[in-house]
Amino acid sequence: MSGYIGRFAPSPTGLLHIGSLIGALASYLDARANQGRWLVRMEDLDPPREMPGAASAILQSLEDHGLTWDGEVLWQSQRHDVYRQVINDLLRANQAFYCTCSRRDLQQSKGIYQGRCRGRLTAPADQDFACRLQVDNQSMAVDDAIQGHFSQQLEREVGDVILQRKDGLFAYQLAVVVDDAYQGITHIVRGADLLDSTPRQIYLQRVLGYTTPQYGHFPVITDEQGEKFSKQTFATAIDSADACNNLCLALAFLQQPLPPVELCQEVEAILAWAVEHWSIDSIPSELGIVKS
Ligand code: GLU
Ligand code: ZN
Repeated sequence: MSGYIGRFAPSPTGLLHIGSLIGALASYLDARANQGRWLVRMEDLDPPREMPGAASAILQSLEDHGLTWDGEVLWQSQRHDVYRQVINDLLRANQAFYCTCSRRDLQQSKGIYQGRCRGRLTAPADQDFACRLQVDNQSMAVDDAIQGHFSQQLEREVGDVILQRKDGLFAYQLAVVVDDAYQGITHIVRGADLLDSTPRQIYLQRVLGYTTPQYGHFPVITDEQGEKFSKQTFATAIDSADACNNLCLALAFLQQPLPPVELCQEVEAILAWAVEHWSIDSIPSELGIVKS
């Protein structure tokens, strides 16, 4: 085993579709090709958006595709106390603050928060409030293994980041950073739709004194409208009966060499071959259009 620890972190808002299989496969192959561990974390942070049964169906689907993870699945729904503690520490350090602004307040600044409630360190008794992380005007950059250099000036381009929403739910941006650190993740391979979130995640890692993993963001499949594959568009759940085909399709999207036909009858054989021939450098930074 090397020191490499990778992960796949699905949200149980729907079943595994080809787009999410690509994310699972890419992170799995990169970990295994580097003699690393591969963990699964269920990002079940937002019950109203979740689909009953999706979490266990996703795990079953991963197993059916031969994508077996190390250790126990980490469930974010079990981690609320930790998230609450981190927010309290940030408030105490004056790095976070309570915010009572409404959506309408935000619209006036094109959705980018202008820091109006900064410094508000006690919870308002009479109004709903969110918690935000105060960002700064430094340029925050990531050197991505697939996308190359990407940077943002958070204060101008993103604004102070929500850590806990007005409805009390913890934000993805907080939970992902806390849990990547908790699980000792060294390498993150995920879809390029999250590249835009990466500078703020690195910023939060620095504020919390965590080390920053290495990132690789593969291009996300889009349909003819340029929409990412998702439940809302035309992505349908993948069928475990087609597991071998699904894996080969996912390999093709990642522009990896395909195993010889005689190896394509079993998921284990496909995966072993794919680990052997894995090349993250072959993943293009952008993909063509998929016809629906
Ligand atoms: N749970 C997130 C999603 O399904 C992915 C989080 C991540 O990989 O950082 O989109
Ligand atoms: Zn505010």
